[in-house]
Amino acid sequence: MYQPDYLGLSLDGLALPARLMAKAYRSASLTVRGREFAWGARTYVMGIINATPDSFSGDGLGGDVNAAVAQARQMEADGADWLDIGGESSRPGAEGLDPAEETRRVVPVIEAVRATTNLPLSVDTCHAAVARAALAAGAGAVNDIWGLRHDPEMAGVVADAGAVLIGMHNQRGRPATNDVIGAITAGFQETLRIAAEHGIPDDRIILDPGFGFGWTPEQNLQMVRDLIFLWAARFPYPLLLGTSQKSTIGHILGGAPVDQRLEGTAASVALSIASGADIVRVHDVAAMVKVARVSDAFVYRGLLSNVRVPVVIALGSNLGDRAGNLRAAVAALEEEHVGVTAQSSVWETAPVPADQPAFLNAVVTAETWRSPSKLLELLKKIEHRLGRRPERRWGPRPIDLDILFYGRERVDTPELTIPHTAILERSFVLAPLAEVLPGVLPHLGVTATEALRRAGTSGLRRHSAL
Ligand code: ADP
Ligand code: MG
Repeated sequence: MYQPDYLGLSLDGLALPARLMAKAYRSASLTVRGREFAWGARTYVMGIINATPDSFSGDGLGGDVNAAVAQARQMEADGADWLDIGGESSRPGAEGLDPAEETRRVVPVIEAVRATTNLPLSVDTCHAAVARAALAAGAGAVNDIWGLRHDPEMAGVVADAGAVLIGMHNQRGRPATNDVIGAITAGFQETLRIAAEHGIPDDRIILDPGFGFGWTPEQNLQMVRDLIFLWAARFPYPLLLGTSQKSTIGHILGGAPVDQRLEGTAASVALSIASGADIVRVHDVAAMVKVARVSDAFVYRGLLSNVRVPVVIALGSNLGDRAGNLRAAVAALEEEHVGVTAQSSVWETAPVPADQPAFLNAVVTAETWRSPSKLLELLKKIEHRLGRRPERRWGPRPIDLDILFYGRERVDTPELTIPHTAILERSFVLAPLAEVLPGVLPHLGVTATEALRRAGTSGLRRHSAL
């Protein structure tokens, strides 16, 4: 099993250090053409449109364009979130195409599809010239099966256009290895290095581990099974998985041809989602949208139940042994297997309303496999165990435990609001939060430090270590 020590991965689950956890909050979403892709909220479905002559009726380019437009319309109606248009077959053994010919095929299709739908479009190409023409024709993203490593001009084209990059790791032609995740991680690192060098912003990068590109069937399966390790290592980047109709599925089904791989594809999509895929790239959009919806519901928003989600919990106390209560709450969390990864100092604030003792507050980052509602249930149990009883609203309490953030997710139910409301107004939350979560706060768009500067620090003082 892949266990790079810098990740602190352990056999009983993921123990992401706080430093990495903070990174986890860097790119909570991507907006393309006014559409928000909120990573972690659900799985997004990308429909594949092939502008290759053999994919359509074959009656000349005009026919191809019309067929592609009809396909795009149908995919949008079927619930696709994104369309990927390619003019060069990337099948194993497919002939390399002259970029000029690829441009002639793909540009008219992109123009026509752009005029038909408002969905984000990516061009599936590894050639900078094709990408440049496709972006000018209305595509907003480049899906490069060589992750910027084939054409040295590709990164500049993507950066200059402000386009989204989908960078795939391609194992074809590389030395055989059994360290699937290790090879993909190294490939991603190279793609990300090139992207950074050319100024492609982190939050406009999606990574694809490259199912079916240079791996044996068993290694392809290994890739999906171990996706969590990749996902953890590359936490800030959403992952795209393309298993649709691929030969590994045919292989498992005893040589099923492409047109008999629908159910196999459905299983692979469901399990990709269970392993943490953010986007699935598919041919059969109508069917796979349903598969994705049901998978999302079963696996809890793209996360396996044994995967630990980074959470941030605020603690407050103004009754009894205040500091002792905070420490007891942290110990209780640990006891209940909510692994605390970082803790702030203790801060003291004047109470609101004023007719009660001053509050001590702290914030911890932790990880949990519990769902948000189960975590809330646990926090209430701990509050009760530490002597909290129903009191008047905002009255004195020995302990108050609130969930500030749950991964990158937004929760809005009658009993739970995440991110917790009023974080930005509360200096007693922001001061300790700034100590443990240095990055931009998920969904709030500012760092805790900046928000604290705006909220002001009157009546707030550092009290002690937790
Ligand atoms: P407060 O924390 O505002 O002083 P309480 O601790 O009495 O108030 O909580 C009141 C209710 O707030 C809880 O029963 C819970 O259902 C709800 N709540 C909503 N969002 C959250 C959250 N993110 N964390 C904890 N409780 C929350
Ligand atoms: Mg509370």
